[in-house]
Amino acid sequence: MKKATECVHAGWTPTKGEPRALPIYQSTTFKYDNSEQMARLFDLKDSGYFYSRLANPTCDAVAAKIAHLEGGVAAMLTSSGQSANFFATFNICEAGGHILSACNIYGGTFNLFGVTMKKMGIDCTFFDPDALTDDEVRALIKPNTKLIFGETISNPGGKVFDIERFARIAHEAGIPLIVDNTFATPVNCRPIEWGADIVTHSTTKYMDGHASCVGGVIVDSGKFNWMAHAEKFPGLCTPDESYHGLTYAKDFGEAAYITKATAQLMRDLGCKQSAQDAYILNLGLESLHVRMRQHCENAQRVAEWLESRPEVGWVNFAGLPSSPQHALYKKYLPHGGCGVIAFGLKGTREQAIKFMDSLKMISIVTHVADAKTCVLHPASHTHRQLTDAQLQEAGIPADLVRLSIGIEDAADIIADLEQAFFQVAE
Ligand SMILES: *Cc1c(COP(=O)(O)O)cnc(C)c1O
Repeated sequence: MKKATECVHAGWTPTKGEPRALPIYQSTTFKYDNSEQMARLFDLKDSGYFYSRLANPTCDAVAAKIAHLEGGVAAMLTSSGQSANFFATFNICEAGGHILSACNIYGGTFNLFGVTMKKMGIDCTFFDPDALTDDEVRALIKPNTKLIFGETISNPGGKVFDIERFARIAHEAGIPLIVDNTFATPVNCRPIEWGADIVTHSTTKYMDGHASCVGGVIVDSGKFNWMAHAEKFPGLCTPDESYHGLTYAKDFGEAAYITKATAQLMRDLGCKQSAQDAYILNLGLESLHVRMRQHCENAQRVAEWLESRPEVGWVNFAGLPSSPQHALYKKYLPHGGCGVIAFGLKGTREQAIKFMDSLKMISIVTHVADAKTCVLHPASHTHRQLTDAQLQEAGIPADLVRLSIGIEDAADIIADLEQAFFQVAE
């Protein structure tokens, strides 16, 4: 099926007399006829539901839809994008391991890898994908490196990750590539087709699309041959004592990685998505393809308009031919990227604040990627403790305004920006 059809139909195929809409299985537990049936489930010999921390039919239907959309073999929903990226990496990288990650990634993931996982004995090296040659990247891979990580379109910098290039470098070293595809969504890019092995999302963003539910997902391509690199991935390739000595990569084939993430990490750490939230996420997914088109068309128009304005110092949007990211954008995102634009407003911090306070329809919120256009000025919000010099060091100039373009009429978005520019000039 085509992506648009999968957005609407994949994951839930009711038969005679079943509800047309995806039902919410609001139950912690599931009933069986005898204890033997239950025992087989606990041994992972039969598949079935027994406790909603481990699996729930509503969540599984939505996970299956996202796995279809990404072209993967299996997926698991998590409680947030943060837990998705934590589980995705921790599933194959334990104490003593090393992560090689692009430096321009979401701030929360940067902290997760650089601070919190460090406390668990996992080391991380950050690299600038645009600044290094292939050999310089290879030189950063150590004997204990377990994966390479990057974002298809980085949040908030808008950098496009050269997935094919880093998949090749990872595979030469016998390790998988994990790609956070939150901003592009599978509607605009399918990282697995370019060689990524694992794909993650904060479903909080475009997938939900209405700023309603925090959530995440991990998708496995099923393509990485863990057994061929068994010495690097003992968690998948040697018996799990906490599961009667079964070996995931032997006993579950293509589904090994997601089975381990569910049977071990979800069992022990419990960052599950609720059936309610999965239902709402599914409503978002049903219109994802329609909304992404509108987000991208609007953002392209607004970015071109901003570039033409005398009040604007610079515009960072990979869809603009003037962007240094444009060649990668055309390769990986031929139908559009996402609705997030960063631009620099000429003038002082105070003028940037006046500009934002003058907006009428566009709201100031700490969020991106939902139906409603919103704006954030990192220098006076998320990064307000920093001086201008510190901001520059963090790659966030004091004049940077982040706009997340919604699905309203582009003319109304532009009119609101224009009247705010006029008010600043007064
Ligand atoms: C928001 C975001 C996350 C974290 O997701 P939450 O759902 O907020 O936990 C991770 N990666 C990217 C690219 C994001 O934009």
